[in-house]
Amino acid sequence: MSLAVSPMTAPAAEPVLRRPSLVGRTRAGMAQALAEIGVPEKERRMRVGQLWNWVYHYGVRDFEAMTTIGKGLRAQLAERFSLDLPEVTAEQVSTDGTRKWLMRMPPTGPHDRGAEIECVYIPEVDRGTLCVSSQVGCTLTCTFCHTGTQRLVRNLTTEEIVAQLMVARDGLGDFPNRKPPEGAFVPNDGGRLVTNIVFMGMGEPLYNFDAVRDAIDVIADDQGLSLGRRRITVSTSGVVPQIGPLGEEMGTMLAISLHAVRDELRNELVPLNKKYPIKDLMEACRTYPGLTNAKRITFEYVMLKGVNDSDAEARELVRLLKGIPAKINLIPFNPWPGTKYECSDWDRIERFSEIVFRAGYASPVRTPRGRDILAACGQLKSETEKLSARARLMLEQEQPAEPAPAVAAE
Ligand code: SAH
Ligand code: SF4
Repeated sequence: MSLAVSPMTAPAAEPVLRRPSLVGRTRAGMAQALAEIGVPEKERRMRVGQLWNWVYHYGVRDFEAMTTIGKGLRAQLAERFSLDLPEVTAEQVSTDGTRKWLMRMPPTGPHDRGAEIECVYIPEVDRGTLCVSSQVGCTLTCTFCHTGTQRLVRNLTTEEIVAQLMVARDGLGDFPNRKPPEGAFVPNDGGRLVTNIVFMGMGEPLYNFDAVRDAIDVIADDQGLSLGRRRITVSTSGVVPQIGPLGEEMGTMLAISLHAVRDELRNELVPLNKKYPIKDLMEACRTYPGLTNAKRITFEYVMLKGVNDSDAEARELVRLLKGIPAKINLIPFNPWPGTKYECSDWDRIERFSEIVFRAGYASPVRTPRGRDILAACGQLKSETEKLSARARLMLEQEQPAEPAPAVAAE
C-alpha cells in the first residue's frame, strides 16, 4: 500500500512560549480569559457566546474575522491570546481514505517541547468517525496494546482533547464556507464530515475524567461543536467506580473493552481486572444510566489466536451479557513489533461471530482501516516518534512534498 506523508510546518528548534490559545476552552475558560483583559462581568456571558460561535461554529483562526465584536476588544484579545490549533507535524492519508494527524501540543514550560499525539479519521459513505486520545500513553498495561508499553504518560487537558476535533475539522474543511481537500474521501450525504467521536485512541478516558467530561461538554454543546452525545462513545478498560458517573455526567455511549470472559484470562490481558473483576464490571454495565435497547453498550473483544477465540468462549460471552442491551464488536488484533499475540484466523473470527449472531447480537467485525498508516487501535504509540522523526528529516532535507518510504505496517 502506498502512503503519503505531508509534513506541515517546521518544528521550532527552541520551544517558544506562545500566547495562550482560546481554542478548546469551556465557557468558564473563555470567561476567565475575558476577565483577564478586564471585560466587565455582566458582559462576559454575551461575549463568551460570540467567541464560541466564531471559534466553534465558524472555525475562524483570526480575531480580526470576528465582525460581531468591536475592533477595540478584538485587538485586546489578539494582544493577549491566540486562536492557534496544535501544530500539525504531519498528515497522512491511507489508500482507503483514513487520515491521521500527528500533532504537537503547545509546550507547557520553557523546557518542554510539547507532547505529541495522534488522531485518526475514518470516513464512510454516511458518517465520519474521529478516534481521539485522552492521555499521552496509558498507565494501564493491557498486554496486547501498544499504547500500554509507552513510558511517557500524562493526562491531556480539556483544550487538548477538544483541539483534536478542531484539527480534524480544520484539515477536512468541515466548517461553513470551507471545502474538503481535493480528492478527499468524506461522507457524501451533505452533512458534517465528522459525525461521530470515539475515545479509542491513546489512554484510559476514565482516568482523566474531569478533562474528558469538560471536553465533551464543549463538543456536545449546541453552541459549541454541536455533536450529539449519542454520537460520542467513551471506551473504557473497566474503571468500575467511574462508569456510573460517566453516564450521569457525560451521557455518552459506553464501550467496554472486555476481551475475555473468565477472570483468570482477563487478569492477564487487562490487568485492571484484578482490581475490578468481571462480575463488578457487568454490574456497573447493568446499571449504566440511560441504558435502553436504543442505547446499547458496545462490548469490544479483540480476537487473539488461541487465547480467547474458542467456540466455548463465544457461548460464554453470550451468557455473560444476558439481560444487558449490548452490541458486540469483534476487533481483529492489530499486531505491533515485539508482541507475543497473533490475530485469530479469519474462519475462526467468522465462526465466533456466527455464534454471537445466532444468540441475537449484531456482531460486526471491525474492518481494519488505515493499516498502511498505522492508524488502528493499539497502534497509536511510538510510531509517532518514528514518523515525526521522519517528517523532521524530510524537512531538514527540504523535500516536503516527497512521498515518504513505505512504512512497514505488518
Ligand atoms: N483505554 C481505553 C480506550 C483506548 S483503547 C480502553 O482500553 O477501552 C481502544 C480500544 O482498542 C480498546 O478496545 C482496546 O482494547 C483496543 N486495542 C488496543 N490494542 C489493540 C490492538 N493491538 N489490536 C486491536 N485492538 C486493540
Ligand atoms: Fe490503556 Fe486501553 Fe491500551 Fe489498556 S487497551 S493499555 S487501557 S489504552
